[in-house]
Amino acid sequence: MAHGALHYPIVAIEGSSVIDVVLHSGRDRSLRRRHPWVLSGAVDRVSELPGGSTGGWARVSSAEGEVLGYGDYSGNSALRVRMLCFGKDEPRSDLIQARLSAAIEARRTHPLLANTDAVRLVNAEGDGLPGLVVDRYADALVVKFASSGMAARREEIAHGLKELSHARLGYERADPTLSRREGMSVQQGPLWGTPPSGPVEIDERGRRFWVDLSAGQKTGFYLDQRDHRDLVQLLSSGRRVLDLFAYTGGFSVAAAAGGARAVTLVESSPSALEVANANLETNRVDCEVECVRADAFRYLRPGKGPDHREGSFDLLVIDPPPLARRKRDVGRAARAYKDLLLFALRAASPDALILAFACSHHVGPELFRKICFGASLDAGRPLKVLRELGAPADHPVALDHPEGVYLKGLLLQV
Ligand code: SAH
Repeated sequence: MAHGALHYPIVAIEGSSVIDVVLHSGRDRSLRRRHPWVLSGAVDRVSELPGGSTGGWARVSSAEGEVLGYGDYSGNSALRVRMLCFGKDEPRSDLIQARLSAAIEARRTHPLLANTDAVRLVNAEGDGLPGLVVDRYADALVVKFASSGMAARREEIAHGLKELSHARLGYERADPTLSRREGMSVQQGPLWGTPPSGPVEIDERGRRFWVDLSAGQKTGFYLDQRDHRDLVQLLSSGRRVLDLFAYTGGFSVAAAAGGARAVTLVESSPSALEVANANLETNRVDCEVECVRADAFRYLRPGKGPDHREGSFDLLVIDPPPLARRKRDVGRAARAYKDLLLFALRAASPDALILAFACSHHVGPELFRKICFGASLDAGRPLKVLRELGAPADHPVALDHPEGVYLKGLLLQV
């Protein structure tokens, strides 16, 4: 293709129109490395959008006119195109179904995902399906469309998921912030089947949890902490456990199942604590339990007098929400996190174990180590790393897409 005016007409791929996206000169490098995002700043020009649509297939070309691949166009998003395939060939008509099938099949008999009926079935870019997240909770699937391109395939995806998973319910979870960013309508409700009147029960390696499909964090539960719940269960015998930012008590249930002497949950959301209570009850937890509705920072911050919490916990889990949602928040987040860990160290007994997590992409593993080191220096308590922690096998990260890494943690020994 020559430089200058657009030469590609709007053609049809399986009945949908194609938007031509031509990149600025020199902005094709990331696509040649199979990175799945085309940022708005990389785009030189775009052919006219049919009917003012924000979604649809995009064919992405270099400034020199070489077709680099095809993806989902998002007219309102900073992620202007999310790539679905690379190279000059048009996408196969069964591309989405084939990716769904591969993702579901990969989990079905995976030894790292055994003995649980709650699994992430589709992890967006990690499964070659940017903009789509699907979690299985027993007989129900929760589906999140995070891009207008994926949302436009709602019916096709629902049909495929139903056939492939045999789940009795497919439930679409809305994400109002994302929807606004993508310029799409906020939708929530069943894609097929009838939603239950209450939460759904899951069985994760003998631990049972109630999951509200229609409300709460993520798609209802922190599936990404599954392996770390196993770890806490393994390490809790005889220990006094502090579960900070407990949400619905995943770590506390695991600690109790592992024979903890006592568990203390600290969580600011009353509704999450209510579910945590139900979870503890369902698992017939028989150790001492304390549920504290509080700000975790305040709970730990030492007062003026003698600190009544000093040395009172032998295993501490620190799992805050993302403290840096944007890059410019990183400095503030790092200080907040350091304080948190510093206070936690004061509450830790001489041989305590600490599982410290950070789930913000902007706080990378190196910075996270530095933060932990800073807290350890200030507390005057050396720490050893026993294990590096990350997301489990049902949250794969494509090596082409380093932004997919978010959850990181350290198992620390005081
Ligand atoms: N550990 C949990 C997930 C934690 S998500 C699990 O494994 O399921 C973060 C949780 O922190 C949310 O439930 C949120 O309600 C809670 N939270 C946010 N800010 C808080 C604060 N300042 N103090 C206590 N809890 C807080």
